[in-house]
Amino acid sequence: MLIESRPVKLTTRTGIEVRRTLPHRDLKMIGAWCFVDHFGPTPQTDGMVVAAHPHTGLQTVTWLLEGVIEHRDSIGSVQRIEPGQLNLMTAGYGISHSELSLRGPQNLHAVQLWVALPEESRAIAPAFEHRDDLPKLALNGCDATVLIGSFMGHTAKTSVFSEMVGVELRLQAGATVEIALEHEFEYGLLPLEGSIFADGELVPRSALKYMPTSTNSEARSLLVEATEPTVFLLLGGKPFGEKILMWWNFIARSNAEIVEQRQQWNEHLNSEAGLARFGKFEDQIGDWIPAPELPNITLAPR
Ligand code: MN
Repeated sequence: MLIESRPVKLTTRTGIEVRRTLPHRDLKMIGAWCFVDHFGPTPQTDGMVVAAHPHTGLQTVTWLLEGVIEHRDSIGSVQRIEPGQLNLMTAGYGISHSELSLRGPQNLHAVQLWVALPEESRAIAPAFEHRDDLPKLALNGCDATVLIGSFMGHTAKTSVFSEMVGVELRLQAGATVEIALEHEFEYGLLPLEGSIFADGELVPRSALKYMPTSTNSEARSLLVEATEPTVFLLLGGKPFGEKILMWWNFIARSNAEIVEQRQQWNEHLNSEAGLARFGKFEDQIGDWIPAPELPNITLAPR
């Protein structure tokens, strides 16, 4: 299955063209991966100014190809992120953060991905992790960086709560690489620069090729071929096995939880429960984004 990205106008991101592939009508998740946004390259002058906003029940993964972003959050983290490094924010019970792309000569080109937390981990204390020690490996005409999980014998130290993997692969023009895959994982392949042929099928930039789990007992692999210099992400994991309720920046399991989280955020500066869940912090943006109105229906997990 090939999912074409759709352009998204985000009120929380100014001036950036965002291309989203997950969630999609026909595909909600790949393992615990539940949200895939690809943005840029765009001049940093119209980059990212995302004022304080909350998250619950998920992890955010920020990965840059170009540019610099400063992250601040309600547990006191202040972190610049540059290409080749990973920012992982575990929202758990609740956190708030802001993101600001720093002005400079480079473009901003990045992905932001969300990982759903399983039931036993979704209310844990919030945490933030910056990784500049990600494993790198060289295949034939291909450089790979393991962002999350294990890939071809190399394991990232990134904290995750379900069986999953995330890898960036860079192929030279003309390179052909055979990638080992796990039988029990479903996968998505997302070109960020250039396009790629995956088992002979063309996957254009910003589109997502989905591959379900395998029932075959033989070794499983994927043949990728690049006719131009290409950068792509391989995202995978065991099928999540739980229904989730994603609304705005929250991942919950019931409408009542969403209603409570929305209210606690919108009152977080004047309410003990809101402050306890989402905290507060100072940044250069000096503003926060209220949660929108809820739809006039009862939201259901799916
Ligand atoms: Mn966020």
